[in-house]
Amino acid sequence: MKIICIGRNYSNHIKEMKSETPGEPVFFMKPDTALLTDGKPFYHPDFSNEIHHEAELVLKICKTGKHIDIEFANTYFDEIGIGIDFTARDLQAACKASGHPWEKAKSFDNSAPIGNFLQKNNFKNISDINFRLDINGKTIQKGNTSDLLFPFDKIISYVSGFVTLKKGDLIFTGTPEGVGPVKPGDKLEAFIEEKKMLAFEVK
Ligand code: MG
Repeated sequence: MKIICIGRNYSNHIKEMKSETPGEPVFFMKPDTALLTDGKPFYHPDFSNEIHHEAELVLKICKTGKHIDIEFANTYFDEIGIGIDFTARDLQAACKASGHPWEKAKSFDNSAPIGNFLQKNNFKNISDINFRLDINGKTIQKGNTSDLLFPFDKIISYVSGFVTLKKGDLIFTGTPEGVGPVKPGDKLEAFIEEKKMLAFEVK
């Protein structure tokens, strides 16, 4: 399986990063070795002094598709969860400055913790889903899918024009504002609406 991540998909996050608003979805990938599951702890790696949390809703792809028409895109995912797109911000800044790819800042082991998933049909309106990240009991990031620059259907249609999607693939759909560093001892809890979907500790 593969993990596809969308960057710059919430305008207030684009502002906090002083990035430009993209005209089409920006995506990158993480390997399956980036997955961190079952509430296992995240061990802060030594190669970075600035590992940022990015809380994101995650789509689970349910069938193979390429060149998916936007009209049918919603039939290609059946579950929605929440995950963290951990980012070595210091390494990413250096990669950006030298015009190099970001992979080492984004794709390192355990950089994609995920929690439980909910069936898509549990949601009345997928264009109005609240989600949040609490750290040590305090809400640090809050998002709502009505603020997505590129909604789920557009993401699936666009990405599948370049990369074949397969059952079990995950799409991280972008982070809202409020990204920041984590440190050993931090307890992260991510919620969809009021349901706790993911909980783990940084060590
Ligand atoms: Mg992200």
